[in-house]
Amino acid sequence: MKKFCKKVWICGLLCFLWASLFTSCSEVVEADGSPELSPDPSHPIAFKLYPNDMARNDSAAANLARGIALIVHPGASYTLSFDIDSTQPAPELQLFHTYDLKYSKDLVGSTRVRTLSPTVVGNRYVYSFTCEENKMTIWLTSLGVDGEYFKGKVDNIRFQGIGSYSDHFSINLIVVGSMDKTLDGKNVDELASDMLRLFREKYYGITVDTLYVRYAHNHPTLGSYYPADQPWVAGVSSDDLFVSELAGWPEEGLRNALNIVLVHSIKNKDVMGYSHVFSGILGAGNQSSVVIGEYVKKSDGYELLSSYNIIMTAVHETGHFFGLRHTSTTRRDLGLLADSGEDNGNVGDLSNIEDGLTDTPFCEYIFRSGLYKSGESAGGYALERGSYLSKSGIHACPDQNNIMFPVTLDDAGTVSFSKQQMEIIRSSLMIFPH
Ligand SMILES: [Zn+2]
Repeated sequence: MKKFCKKVWICGLLCFLWASLFTSCSEVVEADGSPELSPDPSHPIAFKLYPNDMARNDSAAANLARGIALIVHPGASYTLSFDIDSTQPAPELQLFHTYDLKYSKDLVGSTRVRTLSPTVVGNRYVYSFTCEENKMTIWLTSLGVDGEYFKGKVDNIRFQGIGSYSDHFSINLIVVGSMDKTLDGKNVDELASDMLRLFREKYYGITVDTLYVRYAHNHPTLGSYYPADQPWVAGVSSDDLFVSELAGWPEEGLRNALNIVLVHSIKNKDVMGYSHVFSGILGAGNQSSVVIGEYVKKSDGYELLSSYNIIMTAVHETGHFFGLRHTSTTRRDLGLLADSGEDNGNVGDLSNIEDGLTDTPFCEYIFRSGLYKSGESAGGYALERGSYLSKSGIHACPDQNNIMFPVTLDDAGTVSFSKQQMEIIRSSLMIFPH
């Protein structure tokens, strides 16, 4: 009998950024005399853009004038562009640095850092800027004419970013608690060796320098919290499902690695792994890790996974980490299920039903099916394992051999990233400081 594993997108990036990652920035306020047009305080910031996402993001476009969130990184260069509405004057784009407010968990403060006039390129307005923050942060937008919110249409929005960091990275595989041999009999060292080989094969076009293996019980300051002889269940053994305090391992070469945390299992039923989309952080940072389980929790116990499935879970989740969407969107991806969890920045935006890439086919069955009716959300991209999908429907999907297909078939054969997906991964890697 064929088995299925399911990968679910339940991203809470915006919430987690606002809660956790404010920077002490140096503000660059341009004294250009333009009246400040703050994001509309009566208009919740519901949509976000991260660079080089090719999905349509029509809801972000429609809300650009009154305020959306842009994810920005230090030293990176950005352009925001959209089609010209010839019925309206050219609007100014204002950008606002956000900061935490001590008295409120739900509100953020903002300070204007840019007022930009567009350059006209063909039929589009293009706004260009660089980011001088010292950490990844969120900037908010407003779009206006003479101190009033822009009344024209914003169509075909694109947010592009270019970073100058290297296209190399290392992986720190952090083993937490006791670990058994995998279903196919591999120990941790054998699993790590296969993981490096498969990451190098699947992530073509960028370089994985080294894969380190570190054991949580050997951590120089936190080791005593992670006993080597007990199975670690992420979300149970600690509240932090991502076990992110172990990220940014204090050792030369590992501080800025991609942290893959290997645990016994994850507390949520059928979930094999979690990551945030466009996580944005290589090294230390809240929820900056990719977490994967050796076992998956089932209703009647635990299922031990093969080394290949454990590794490919990490490969898929790392794709999200570097900014990839699923090739075929699930209802949960778009926040259309009651248990979709935290705001993922594109809730209800049906224009994002496709990833926008021309070299990844789309399978409508995924959206129409009852996929992800079960399972709990935990504020990340999850990969699930269950067995209730129609085999005929899933096997007809043209994107089933793509790593970012949200359902992986055990008999799928060779899976890979497309060329355009690898371009996004490479550009994100070069934006993430490391
Ligand atoms: Zn996924």
